[in-house]
Amino acid sequence: MFFFNAQSNKTGSLNVGLMGGTFDPIHMGHLVTAEEARQQFNLDYVVFVPTGIPPHKDEKTVSFPEHRYLMTSLAVMSNPSFFVSRFEIDHAAPTYTIDTVRHFACGKESGLEVFFITGADAILEIFTWKDYEELLRLCTFIAVSRPGYSLDRFYESLDRSCPEMKHKVHLLEIPALAVSSTFIRERVALSKTIKYLTPEPVEQYIKKHGLYRVSL
Ligand code: ATP
Ligand code: MG
Repeated sequence: MFFFNAQSNKTGSLNVGLMGGTFDPIHMGHLVTAEEARQQFNLDYVVFVPTGIPPHKDEKTVSFPEHRYLMTSLAVMSNPSFFVSRFEIDHAAPTYTIDTVRHFACGKESGLEVFFITGADAILEIFTWKDYEELLRLCTFIAVSRPGYSLDRFYESLDRSCPEMKHKVHLLEIPALAVSSTFIRERVALSKTIKYLTPEPVEQYIKKHGLYRVSL
């Protein structure tokens, strides 16, 4: 169970960014995004939340949650503002974003101002997400534009589907980092170097445990 044991040096609530993902493996794109969001949105912490049973991915092709949790923990070690939560991986059933946001925005952790960091392309589908109205009430979204993604399309879609939601969604452009977990897995399968695409401890972990050796 994740909890904050550090104190804010500000008065009032803590701003906490949540970054969900499969993190199979975590890479520099995720870390640069989280760090940029931390600075631009004045976040006290960014909590990485690896998914348990990913609802949108084939279970068989995703590494064990414990591997993904450990790699994410290794990747954030050097940043005192970054944490990893076991909330989703400790859930037996697939969790929805609303469950995770409720966990952080309500109950024991109340008093936290929650920002959910996700890809701008994922945000387009928010109206299909479970309890999205409550979700929009409980948190603010930081929609990250990935390399090559046009923000115009995002605005058009938002205008068409739910203009009143605009104040709960902020866009964050990340300098081009065309790296993805898929790209890393493919390179490992081809015995190509992944140096500098992910932090060194993660690279070592992948090697040690022989992850991604078979092409996915
Ligand atoms: P995969 O290739 O397996 O789909 P991924 O690289 O997209 O993996 P995820 O764990 O699926 O990584 O993504 C977690 C979050 O990070 C998502 O919100 C996604 O939009 C964002 N993200 C992934 N890669 C980047 C990147 N290079 N720059 C910025 N954000 C990214
Ligand atoms: Mg992805």
